[in-house]
Amino acid sequence: MINALAQNISPDKSNRNRAYLNFNNTVENSFAIQKNEQNPNFRQKVLFYYIPQPISFKYYFAFKELENLPCPCCGRTMTTNKEIEDFVKNMTIAKGKDIAVCLEKYKDRLPDTERNVANILIKSAKKNENLQLDELLKQILKEPKQKLETKQREILKEIADLSKGLTGETYKIIQKDISQIDSIIKKGRNGDPFKRKKLIQGLEKVRDNESNPDNKKILENIVIKAEDIPTSGADAEAFIVKYSRRKPSEIAHRIIEPSQSTAEHIRPHCKEGSNSPANYLAECKKCNNDRGNMSYVDWLKIHPEMIDNSQKYMNEIIHRIIIGEIKGFDYYPQAVKKAIYDESGQQINLDISKMDEHKKEKLSKTKQARLALPSDVQLNVFA
Ligand SMILES: [Zn+2]
Repeated sequence: MINALAQNISPDKSNRNRAYLNFNNTVENSFAIQKNEQNPNFRQKVLFYYIPQPISFKYYFAFKELENLPCPCCGRTMTTNKEIEDFVKNMTIAKGKDIAVCLEKYKDRLPDTERNVANILIKSAKKNENLQLDELLKQILKEPKQKLETKQREILKEIADLSKGLTGETYKIIQKDISQIDSIIKKGRNGDPFKRKKLIQGLEKVRDNESNPDNKKILENIVIKAEDIPTSGADAEAFIVKYSRRKPSEIAHRIIEPSQSTAEHIRPHCKEGSNSPANYLAECKKCNNDRGNMSYVDWLKIHPEMIDNSQKYMNEIIHRIIIGEIKGFDYYPQAVKKAIYDESGQQINLDISKMDEHKKEKLSKTKQARLALPSDVQLNVFA
């Protein structure tokens, strides 16, 4: 039991060290630990010092490994770590139709951008029997690249128009930037690709250093406009251009990753939400990342579909508890129902009546079993 606890609480040496430092960094304690290292019962003895520190360890949420679970936010089916590993392994060596088969299996779980990319790849993979994933992207690159360049240029033109209102040195700096970017986009077919992030960071720097209030206001609008430049997360063409330079394993991982099942805190960790299953939902990586540290109420305003989708998620969890696929989590539906009810400002009230029925049934079966036993055995077993 103690060993099991030790493994749960301190899974590796670096964590043990961290826990120890957090506990009480005095000379006496470090001396005691060093002495204990010579002792064959080191682990049990050291554990004594670690027990006050469980808060520093994130609970491993086993629900992430349940296959075909719907995301409680977007409702799309999530992908387990094991499935992702297999997908990437297959896609790294697959060619032509095999790529199409792999993508067909998972494409419906992907967000819009990745699903669009998957559809484009499937079409091309069916026609190109001998091409691997990276070769397929390179082959279809021409059209997306042209489309992306057109979008980039349109936004750059709008930035140029906005910049006409700038005065003094700032005007000169921004004009120089614009002509540089224009030539990068032009050369883009052969040279280094245009970097959106670099441009935005550069513009932000000019904005932050600006002292003239009129210029500052224009620069703020320029930064907002620059953020419209397509990203690989929101635009299939930008995705294809960016990842056509990567290895098959990287491309495959990037396609499937948004659907990865992750542990989401119902009450955010930074707002003292606990690291325990009662405060966890298995949620797809895309929704988890998009939410960030946003409160549940604000997140619900953007995603009202969560009311239905979290019920679907809970129905699936209850079903799996009843059929015995999930053991030891009978408390989970009630605890999560309460956490979501509180965090959503009483807007989501999950129906867990099937779980309540299951608990009642279980209880009455235990009672019946007890009645079926002779009275002396009952005393021993159920005392
Ligand atoms: Zn989701």
